Amino acid sequence: MTDAQPTSYPTSNRAHNFSAGPASLPTDVLLKAQAELLDWQGSGVSVMEVSHRSAEYIEVASMAETRLRRLMSIPNNYKVLFLQGGATLQFSAIPLNLMNDMATADYLTTGTWSTKAIKEAKRYADLGLGKVNEVASSKNNQFTTVPPQNEWQTSPNARYFHYCPNETIHGVQIFEPPQVDAPLVADMSSCILSEPIDVSRFGLIYAGAQKNIGPAGLVIIIVREDLIGQASEWCPSILNYANQADKDSMLNTPASYSWYLAGLVFEWLEEQGGLEAMGKINHQKAKLLYDTIDTSSLYNNPVDTAYRSIMNVPFFTGDAELDKRFVAEAKDAGLLALKGHREVGGMRASIYNAISMDAVKALCDFMRDFESRV
Ligand code: PMP
Repeated sequence: MTDAQPTSYPTSNRAHNFSAGPASLPTDVLLKAQAELLDWQGSGVSVMEVSHRSAEYIEVASMAETRLRRLMSIPNNYKVLFLQGGATLQFSAIPLNLMNDMATADYLTTGTWSTKAIKEAKRYADLGLGKVNEVASSKNNQFTTVPPQNEWQTSPNARYFHYCPNETIHGVQIFEPPQVDAPLVADMSSCILSEPIDVSRFGLIYAGAQKNIGPAGLVIIIVREDLIGQASEWCPSILNYANQADKDSMLNTPASYSWYLAGLVFEWLEEQGGLEAMGKINHQKAKLLYDTIDTSSLYNNPVDTAYRSIMNVPFFTGDAELDKRFVAEAKDAGLLALKGHREVGGMRASIYNAISMDAVKALCDFMRDFESRV
């Protein structure tokens, strides 16, 4: 190895990256991480090279939690866990921790991710752990809306009610937490930190990191204390929230670099004015994009307007070849990762916190220009 120093990243060359996840991170965060990469806080080593049990790393880990608690106003009777396995492993961890004693768990299905969550929970129900009840599904509407609450078939004494407030693939968002008796369990992978929420309305919130939190490899769980400690005896130790809470999420080696980077993102969010400020700009970004779609005669977004996501915006020309051309030409113009998810096709712009208003304006300008040419 030579002793070459890192060269500064040419930030002006950073493309507008509309990826659904792993997604764009704030340039300032990446620059800070770059600056400390080889010599973290004068220690002569990288933060990813130190023991997770060292006092220095524990300070990083707990500072990230403190910042997240501040940003989301997380009440004291909630634990915050920084775990691994992505949101997908939580599809198993949730029933294993909460659905014991043949209890019933309610699930609302509004898209691909809530479909995957109920499918996994049903595996445990089939093994005799509990019962799973699908309260309603918008599958017959091609997941373009949310079934009206007066049609939901909730169970009496449900142990929890699972839903996905933002379906990343279909671009369907439920803005108000449902009013149900059971504790709400929410997969906030693609909407966490996008605007203020009242955490006390939820029993458990979970989110994979690779959209609004940081790099992949980390999943954050915010869980009310009274829901901890009731895990099934089948629950693997590593998935048991009680064990992880007891060990401050360090039952084994955590995703230490992702955790550090999440802390930098939280710091950046505080500098931007917190979630009030992010919510305001995120709604403005989404409005600009939906207005561009709605006022064009080429593009279409099929989602019921009340449930249009402010984070993931699918749009279609109705012609698969034209969609392909759009994605290719957008890429040439420095607008990346606009290809829609393979399940739905078309285009999708993910406009998470790190996507600026300027990036959305550039996209809208490109959309108008493309329309004028085809
Ligand atoms: N839930 C939602 C809403 C998602 O968007 C995703 C990932 N795109 C997942 C769950 C799965 O996340 P992971 O890949 O971290 O398991």
